[in-house]
Amino acid sequence: MKKLCILGSTGSIGKQALDVVRCLQGTEDAYSVSVLAANRDVAALEEQIRAFKVPMAVLFDEQAAADLRVRTADLSVRVLSGMEGLLEAVRGDADVVLNAVVGMVGLRPTLAAIEAGKTIALANKETLVVGGALVMQAAREKNVAIYPVDSEHSAIFQCLQGCPRKHDLSRLILTASGGPFFGKTRKELEQVTPEMALKHPNWSMGAKITIDSATMMNKGLEVMEASWLFGVPEDRIDVVVHRESVVHSLIEYNDNSVIAQLGVPDMRIPIQYALTYPKRFPSPVKRLNLAEFAKLTFFEPDEETFGCLPLCREAMRRGGLVPAAVNGANEAAVALFLQRKIPFLAIPELAREAAARQPDVQTFAVEDILEADARARALVASLA
Ligand code: MG
Repeated sequence: MKKLCILGSTGSIGKQALDVVRCLQGTEDAYSVSVLAANRDVAALEEQIRAFKVPMAVLFDEQAAADLRVRTADLSVRVLSGMEGLLEAVRGDADVVLNAVVGMVGLRPTLAAIEAGKTIALANKETLVVGGALVMQAAREKNVAIYPVDSEHSAIFQCLQGCPRKHDLSRLILTASGGPFFGKTRKELEQVTPEMALKHPNWSMGAKITIDSATMMNKGLEVMEASWLFGVPEDRIDVVVHRESVVHSLIEYNDNSVIAQLGVPDMRIPIQYALTYPKRFPSPVKRLNLAEFAKLTFFEPDEETFGCLPLCREAMRRGGLVPAAVNGANEAAVALFLQRKIPFLAIPELAREAAARQPDVQTFAVEDILEADARARALVASLA
């Protein structure tokens, strides 16, 4: 049986991954869960440890980890904490590391897992946004596979299975739901509250990515993620708004033939495919009935109203630490918006300001990324 380490196990992706693990029991791709890591949700993690008989667990928060040790004193589970705990956990006993933490805090665990030769199932897009160059180089050097879990990237990865010659690929087309504010004007976005922004039309996700979806920062981050994952430059990655989230993304060949991947919006398909690639197994996900949808709609993204998308393209073109600055500012700004400390439209403004203040550099290391991230967060705190 293969062994799985899940970072972010109490979040939306983590819970659905455990559901996939349950469904794969009895198949030739059955997994045992060797490590679970979460931020601070003691009760949820304890339940998962008991249900899956997990030998090692990590809580990022030290106090929460101390609580978990008391609550699991009757078990033989080893409980670690902090970034050191996360890094030790990913180097431990696992074949596959599913990184589903929120934010660029996932960068160092991803790099540590690659260094330790683990196969990566990547749901943490910020890892590639801020550290794509370092991560992809480390993966090449260690001959480690990175399988996408993000639904659009899984769709492209699935489409690419029919592309034996890389040079025949001409572009990637990412679909975007458009979020809850599709069709709105900038004026209408001035009064947006966290409650309004947290109502995503199609996907049920964590708070940070749902806000990113409302600002369309998520799609900008995904353009960067796709560029690194598939080695395609930003100007050959299109974005099309597709309201129903049935077509998960597409690729175009040089003869203008387009291949798409479709399905009901349910993350358990991309999670399972990342864990069982190249094999497929039955899944609890509903079958797609196209007639139920009657029509699928597509629109150009409104880059005037949703400035995060062109900002991310600019960040990708400038390269260096600009993506880290944009991402760090966005993470900090989203947190402040959720606390009602800044308006919705301040999120793209703060991210743009962080990009403007970030000097261009050619070469950089992990420490430089962490510094650029910290500077961007400090800038947001000072301007908010
Ligand atoms: Mg996505």
